[in-house]
Amino acid sequence: MSLTLVEPEAVKTVALQMLVEAKVEILFYAFCAEVVKDGDELKGVIVESKAGREAILSKVIIDCSGDADVAFKAGVPCEFGNENGGVQPPTLMFCLGGVDTEKLRLSIAEEPRTYLTDFIPAEYFGQNNQFVLVGMRNLINKAKEEGLNLPTERTILITGLRKGEVWVNMTRVNGVNGTDPGSLTMGEIEGRNQIEDIQRYLIEYVPGFENAYFLKTAPFLGIRETRRIKGLYTMDRDDIMGCRHFDDAIAVASYPLDIHHPVGGGCTLEWCGDCYDIPYRSLVPQKIKNLLVAGRAISTTHEAMSAIRVMAPCMAMGEAAGRAAKMAIKEVQQPADIDVKKLQKELLEKGAFLREPQVEPVASN
Ligand SMILES: Cc1cc2nc3c(=O)[nH]c(=O)nc-3n(C[C@H](O)[C@H](O)[C@H](O)COP(=O)(O)OP(=O)(O)OC[C@H]3O[C@@H](n4cnc5c(N)ncnc54)[C@H](O)[C@@H]3O)c2cc1C
Repeated sequence: MSLTLVEPEAVKTVALQMLVEAKVEILFYAFCAEVVKDGDELKGVIVESKAGREAILSKVIIDCSGDADVAFKAGVPCEFGNENGGVQPPTLMFCLGGVDTEKLRLSIAEEPRTYLTDFIPAEYFGQNNQFVLVGMRNLINKAKEEGLNLPTERTILITGLRKGEVWVNMTRVNGVNGTDPGSLTMGEIEGRNQIEDIQRYLIEYVPGFENAYFLKTAPFLGIRETRRIKGLYTMDRDDIMGCRHFDDAIAVASYPLDIHHPVGGGCTLEWCGDCYDIPYRSLVPQKIKNLLVAGRAISTTHEAMSAIRVMAPCMAMGEAAGRAAKMAIKEVQQPADIDVKKLQKELLEKGAFLREPQVEPVASN
């Protein structure tokens, strides 16, 4: 298992420096509120900001809103959540300082029967001073029995890059619709309310948190799932669990199916044992031209989305969509019609990772 921890503030600065270096025109503080369309051809978006309403026209538009906002408004058929419309709940992440992370990891390594982890073996904690911790269900149950109000069944902690800093992924607000501002507001208030008991749980039950103090929350309620477009191919559970190869692969991912249940405090985690491709066709929406979608809103089922939704695949999809849009504009083609082999060649030349095409086993007689 490998783990890459990042410092979010540094990522924001470096990402902006890279965009400026590449002479990208950037516009913050503007929200896409509508689209400009001619029949089934998307022509641009309408943004709202302090400056009022403005139209931004473009030959190809890439919807990276996470919620398929542009695609949905343009008329692309979309799905929402599971078969009952239930979505994975959002979490308001928060950060504590003053945590003795050495004591925490060594307690797990030395007393694995007391500090039970879900899937990361106890030895891992003996060898790594930066880590993700998932588990300690027994401690959560004890704290609940003793009166604490905890919304989750698991302790989920991620060490920060600064000494003593730990990010806590344990608030959980079921039933929030991430495309509805009223529901988001309720979720943010509820998420914030949950922090007090979670912090008490960590300080009173988990080794290393004895002197911990509250530092900050994430800037927004973190949304795991809303709309998914219907594209030219819909990835499903079998594609993930079967480590599927696709001829039109534009990214490779290995994150497991990770469904935080829409109801209750549980979670399903299932690994395929290797990695799986993400096909270009899942970024190409049905019905509407001049549009690509990248990120967690691509064409998948509820289950497959739970795997491809994490940051590394989303970034790889973003790169592929950007290069595909450039090719479509240059070749005066629709994104659906570009030469995907050429796109794959360019991705590889620029350092992306794609697998060798799968060789069909030769039948023996
Ligand atoms: C609590 C939580 C913890 C997670 N932990 C991890 C983790 O440890 N590792 C990991 O890899 N992944 C993690 N994930 C998953 C991952 O962060 C997201 O799924 C991923 O960032 C989604 O990427 P995206 O590009 O599709 O959307 P986002 O990263 O959400 O980007 C969408 C952007 O579009 C903007 N936007 C939205 N609508 C509009 C609009 N109408 N007009 C203009 N702008 C708009 C948003 O402000 C945002 O900046 C976590 C998610 C959550 C919720």
